[in-house]
Amino acid sequence: MDRLRASGEVTSEDARMTIKLAKEFGFCYGVERCIDLAYAALKVFPDKPIYILGEIIHNPEVNDQIRDMGIRFLSGPNKVADIDDLGADDIVIIPAFGTEVATLEKLKAKGCQFVDTTCGDVMSVWKRVRNYAKEEVTSIIHGKAYHEETKATSSQATSKNGHYLVVLTLEETDYVCDYIENGGDKEEFLKKFEGAYSEGFDPDQHLKAVGVANQTTMMRGETEEVQRRIKAAIERKFGAAKVDSHFRFFDTICGATQERQDALDVLLQKPMDLLLVIGGYNSSNTAHLAEMGEGVLPTYFIKNAAEMADASLIRHWNQHTNQVDETRDWLPDGTLTIGVTAGASCPNNLIEDVICRLLELRGSSADEFLSN
Ligand code: SF4
Repeated sequence: MDRLRASGEVTSEDARMTIKLAKEFGFCYGVERCIDLAYAALKVFPDKPIYILGEIIHNPEVNDQIRDMGIRFLSGPNKVADIDDLGADDIVIIPAFGTEVATLEKLKAKGCQFVDTTCGDVMSVWKRVRNYAKEEVTSIIHGKAYHEETKATSSQATSKNGHYLVVLTLEETDYVCDYIENGGDKEEFLKKFEGAYSEGFDPDQHLKAVGVANQTTMMRGETEEVQRRIKAAIERKFGAAKVDSHFRFFDTICGATQERQDALDVLLQKPMDLLLVIGGYNSSNTAHLAEMGEGVLPTYFIKNAAEMADASLIRHWNQHTNQVDETRDWLPDGTLTIGVTAGASCPNNLIEDVICRLLELRGSSADEFLSN
């Protein structure tokens, strides 16, 4: 992968297929640190039970490896125990996207020891949201309400007696903006955002002073649009002179997410026939990379090389229907240029597998490529 990163592209033996890589792709610093700390925990506590709250990262292969190394899961498909089963001797790993304040308190009450791998970029969002709460400003979080990171961030607001509302789309943002400006049907509002606001949240009371934050892995352009639209609604409602007392904003997209989006932006300027985006199907940052590709050329979001059954069939994630689609004749004959990128939770070996598989499908020897 180091060689591929340096060269940025690889060509098949018959020179009929060129694979171009984005300049930045794959594991981010937060995920690398998280996995390093999990390995370190096994060494430091060889005789103690080690648990992890949920998926270490959004990649099934990596989670299976962690489980096979003896780390026990407290949620998800690999779950073997509940927090209620834990005691003072147990070690608990907190994943890179952090956890909710109430979960942390519960673990503390049980006397568990933590290996806290929460990414610093996630903690900076928490700080921002806590400050909003202290100033009695409601946090409007651009993110996915069910995502572990957003749940953890939301809990930071309520831990300081603040309120939050999570918006995912521009359509939802416009609905909130209209409510800020003109009021509306409170019951309808609460039903529309069910599960995405704090207990006791009242849109008539809690949208008078708002601060925008975001899940670290959102699309920057969309997050900026969310804040622009909310600021404009506040301006129309309270007047430009009073914006500062009713509106706050802080860009909390993390550096790694931004670098991967920027690098894909550059790659998409080049003439290419199709794009492969590699990553776990529940990975938010990978989904955004796929979304960027979809707007430009045929894009296939795959979790590993096995999804490329052969040149006539590829299985790939459709993030709009939440299902795996099958596309026939996805790898046309003739000279092809294929772009490849990967999300922040995708390990190098899966990216290498995909590149080797592409070469194989075109009759090139991946072994020869790897030994060069
Ligand atoms: S994607 Fe960003 S916030 Fe998440 S772990 Fe990686 S660096 Fe940290």
